[in-house]
Amino acid sequence: MKYVSTRGGMQPASYSEVLLEGLAPDGGLAVPETMPALSGPQIEAWRGLSYPELAVEVLSLFATDFPRSELEHMCHAAYSSENFVSADIVPLTPLDDAITLVGLSEGPTLAFKDMAMQYLGQSLEYALRQRGDVLNIVGATSGDTGSAAEYALRGKTGIAVFMLSPQGRMSDFQRAQMYSLTDDNIHNIAVDGVFDDCQNLLKELSADLDFKRANHLGTVNSINLGRISAQIVYYFWAWLRSSDDLSETERAAHRVSFTVPSGNFGNILSGHYARTMGLPIDRLVLAANENNVLDDFFRTGIYRPRGAADTYATSSPSMDISKASNLERFIFDLLGRDGDRLAEAWRVLDETGELNLSGELLRFGAEFGLASGTSTHADRVATIAAVHEQSGITIDPHTADGVKVAREHAEPGVPMLVLETAKPEKFPEIVIEAIGAAAPLPEHLAGLLDLPQHVTEMANDAGELRSFIEARAVTA
Ligand SMILES: *Cc1c(COP(=O)(O)O)cnc(C)c1O
Repeated sequence: MKYVSTRGGMQPASYSEVLLEGLAPDGGLAVPETMPALSGPQIEAWRGLSYPELAVEVLSLFATDFPRSELEHMCHAAYSSENFVSADIVPLTPLDDAITLVGLSEGPTLAFKDMAMQYLGQSLEYALRQRGDVLNIVGATSGDTGSAAEYALRGKTGIAVFMLSPQGRMSDFQRAQMYSLTDDNIHNIAVDGVFDDCQNLLKELSADLDFKRANHLGTVNSINLGRISAQIVYYFWAWLRSSDDLSETERAAHRVSFTVPSGNFGNILSGHYARTMGLPIDRLVLAANENNVLDDFFRTGIYRPRGAADTYATSSPSMDISKASNLERFIFDLLGRDGDRLAEAWRVLDETGELNLSGELLRFGAEFGLASGTSTHADRVATIAAVHEQSGITIDPHTADGVKVAREHAEPGVPMLVLETAKPEKFPEIVIEAIGAAAPLPEHLAGLLDLPQHVTEMANDAGELRSFIEARAVTA
């Protein structure tokens, strides 16, 4: 399997190569040259596999330049009982007759980013070792991504992490989670500023190509193809587990829909890829919060990204995104996988701030099964309360956005699977507002808040950041 750019300007590259790169040289995103295709019986043959075994099968279709024994080691190390609380890794929990939760938050940081990051940590370490190279990851986080990256990369050979966070802007739990790590290769930096200041510092560093090259800087952001490929696995897992109790004939006709709480369009893109590969998915429903640029797009065909100033800070903060970086990969498929058309569309988007694909969506939209909806703060509060009252289960605000939108799209006879993207313990405020009490921390994390914290406080100053990185970067 080779990878090409959505904008048509990259020589076909291997999985290992695109794993270590950010944007393609032409500014586009790496996508599989052709999608692997699976038949019903091929998928059915995977029913008896454990989660890590299934991950090996699915990922071997993408990581064709990894030896199988290495991939087996990576998947078993990533999806282990040390990292994940549930023995199933991804448990399915029915809420009622219509809706089932797919538990993607059993990992070390209680959010779905762990599903991809744990595998990425393993695969990056391997790919770097093969190349004799090292990687210093510099990132900015306001929560989930930074901690998932740190937990996935702690102690890895040839990798260091420099994670910027806005000082005093994260929750006690998020701070404790990141700052309590003691690994030598993890560097937490609290910047005197807001999240945008952290991002601007990052931009300044990545624009300095000499510094970037000399210090082997890189990122593990949401466009990383390794992450997208690892997320495909749980769509197959959920389809298999949701049909375990059916007869053979029923299994052959089994179709499900998924609702995906979305921000950067990474999670749902993996669902789109699973569907393209032949997994019987009826609809893929995108759930947005008040930052509903993507809901607008799927309803009208007009994509109009918003700037940081027009992005609301909501109570489902990991979805506060108004420019979805992975959407380009979906639009590439919508435009018939034609790099020239995609490049032209993005030229128009950059020039006018708007992309009108209503014609294409009208003609081909149904083929892709995409639907969408929006959920607000009031919806989240009401949904957390209603689910708790009906089933005794406490859900987090992002999953609540999913359940709210899922109810509007559920159809009789088609199980609706909602991806649970985080645990409620991470978001006590809205949980208290909805049900009067916070979800207690799970036993294995009870002492977390009392651990000593390790963080370097820094002025909003690129020079200071440079010296800090230069002094601590891993070298080849
Ligand atoms: C990252 C995140 C999302 C959004 O996922 P995308 O892949 O960016 O669409 C939703 N919920 C939670 C809890 C997240 O951390």
